[in-house]
Amino acid sequence: MHAPSDITADAPAALRLRLDGDALAANYRWFAQKAGVPAIPAVKADGYGLGAAEVTRRLEAAGATAFAVSTWAEALALARALRRADLPLLVLHGFTADCTAAATALPAARPVLDTLAQCSAWATAFPGRPADLMVDTGMNRLGLAPAELPAAAGLMLDTVHSHLASADIPEDPITERQLDRFRAVVAATPGARHALANSAGICWGRDYSFDAVRPGLGLYGGLPHPQARVERVVTPEARVVQVRRVPAGETVGYGGTWTAGRDSRIAVLNIGYADGLPRSLQAHLAIRHDGHRLPLAGRISMDLIAVDMTGHDVAEGDWLALDFDLPALSEAAGVSQYELLVHLSGRFARLWT
Ligand SMILES: *Cc1c(COP(=O)(O)O)cnc(C)c1O
Repeated sequence: MHAPSDITADAPAALRLRLDGDALAANYRWFAQKAGVPAIPAVKADGYGLGAAEVTRRLEAAGATAFAVSTWAEALALARALRRADLPLLVLHGFTADCTAAATALPAARPVLDTLAQCSAWATAFPGRPADLMVDTGMNRLGLAPAELPAAAGLMLDTVHSHLASADIPEDPITERQLDRFRAVVAATPGARHALANSAGICWGRDYSFDAVRPGLGLYGGLPHPQARVERVVTPEARVVQVRRVPAGETVGYGGTWTAGRDSRIAVLNIGYADGLPRSLQAHLAIRHDGHRLPLAGRISMDLIAVDMTGHDVAEGDWLALDFDLPALSEAAGVSQYELLVHLSGRFARLWT
């Protein structure tokens, strides 16, 4: 008998996420050049699912000097993974007194304070230590109202931020209204730096650049705005567990929603909705194989999909790549590009090339 701690054997990763480091760097450079000011990558939610540590390392090599996460727990995890207590991190959800130990351990991190209560908690815990501030200009999510700015006057403000609600919708008039309101915020906070634009906002032009921008989605290959130029970064790869013949007239998968119109060869792959492929993708997702796009056959299951590979060479154990075209899948299936990225599961080995 062995106690569980005696099990030292390893199993190979069943799934691979191919990550294109050159594309990540090229996307970073595109947004930084478009903005013409320093770009602070958003690496929250584990780098939008790609792995925050490796993303941060690569974007630092591409020129980034500060990074944005959501929480102090994310900040600590990232600094630990990179063994860098001095990592310049912005913490978008701000600060509460129970995060004092984390903020002490990360002297180069700054909260992006969102409320007056957060402002006073920070001033009490770390008098004189610089912080950032979020001001709401019309999204009505996080941030002080512009009228509350005088109450934040005692803080050492590094950067004052606001966030655009609808910059991914070209021509939406709210974006220009937010720009006008942000200009008033800038006038009311002289001496601080200012930042407004996310990936989509950068595409609205240099009026939106101010002193820094905060791209996220576009770095990872999402298309935030029709005018953006982004390269694909993420390609999930799965393995063929079984190849089977399905005679004409038989159905495949739960509910029998796919019927073989001819004698078919079906490959069954070890990837499913538990890995981040929502069932709504099934009519739109395809496998890329020898220059062809091969459609799924039937429903996406929890851990499996089936692909019609009739006439194509495929064997059990083969690795196959999904055609993970974020903008097209998002549009066709009505799932946001953000969700498609961040739901990619922990079962993938993340392999940078
Ligand atoms: C996540 C986030 C960003 C990045 O937005 P994208 O749309 O992914 O480019 C920028 N700013 C704030 C405040 C955010 O929360």
